[in-house]
Amino acid sequence: MEKIASYCLTEPGSGSDAAALRTKADRDGEFYILNGSKAFISGAGVSDIYLTMVRTGEEGPAGISCLAIEKDTPGLSFGKPEEKLGWRSQPTGAVIFENARVPVENLVGAEGQGFKIAMAGLDGGRINIASCSLGTAQSALDHALEYMRQRKQFGRKLQEFQALQFKIADMATELEAARLMVRQAAAKVEAKTPDASRWSAMAKRFATDVGFDVVNQALQLHGGYGYLRDFPLERNLRDVRVHQILEGTNEIMRIIIARDLFD
Ligand SMILES: Cc1cc2nc3c(=O)[nH]c(=O)nc-3n(C[C@H](O)[C@H](O)[C@H](O)COP(=O)(O)OP(=O)(O)OC[C@H]3O[C@@H](n4cnc5c(N)ncnc54)[C@H](O)[C@@H]3O)c2cc1C
Repeated sequence: MEKIASYCLTEPGSGSDAAALRTKADRDGEFYILNGSKAFISGAGVSDIYLTMVRTGEEGPAGISCLAIEKDTPGLSFGKPEEKLGWRSQPTGAVIFENARVPVENLVGAEGQGFKIAMAGLDGGRINIASCSLGTAQSALDHALEYMRQRKQFGRKLQEFQALQFKIADMATELEAARLMVRQAAAKVEAKTPDASRWSAMAKRFATDVGFDVVNQALQLHGGYGYLRDFPLERNLRDVRVHQILEGTNEIMRIIIARDLFD
């Protein structure tokens, strides 16, 4: 754990359709010469190693290979950090290759295995992102409970209004359901069961949607104070939103789930 690596799949022209990536790696003796760029890379410019999916062959997934690229590689540069709604504690940016020379020995697996390697990483990544949503939502729920115990309106504590009790009961129930689903998916990914990818997609879709809803409701329960930076809810909301987008959008999760069900 002395080096930090970035995962470089997305490009400006290929996000959800990752197999359409165009960053080209041409063989030149004992080196690959890389040209192209990656977009939205977490840790860009800060990480030590860039695990990058590149095109070494034909169009489509079979022509993709995976290279481990060191930060000081000649021809490798980085875009300026993106200005984001949330996730501001980690830089996100472009990774640019201009005749970058990467030794052939940095190939991970064999040529043509890159897309498989990239997809295999995503099952665990989706459990990670789902878990981030669970943690943020649990924290927001705890804050809402605490606030409702103290805040008084119409001469009563918020926790005494049955409409709000029902809301908090639903938030807690859905969050526990999401937690169980993420744990089940994690067990399947660990055991490498045949349905592990579908489960990890289902857990990511469900937990990140529930996570956003729970945080949003917790902010609502704080009234105007939830909107202020004095309270953690506005940051929670900004941070949790991106989980519905990255590591594959929740629309793409539905495609993966349906494809597996119809197989
Ligand atoms: C903060 C942040 C960090 C990120 N970190 C990384 C990283 O470290 N490494 C990396 O490789 N990528 C990273 N990404 C990129 C992320 O994985 C992509 O943004 C995501 O996969 C979506 O791609 P896109 O943005 O090009 O959207 P598009 O693919 O252009 O999608 C646009 C919209 O269309 C929908 N859509 C697309 N195709 C279909 C379809 N067939 N059916 C239905 N709906 C569809 C999508 O769900 C989305 O709503 C990061 C993104 C963000 C925001």
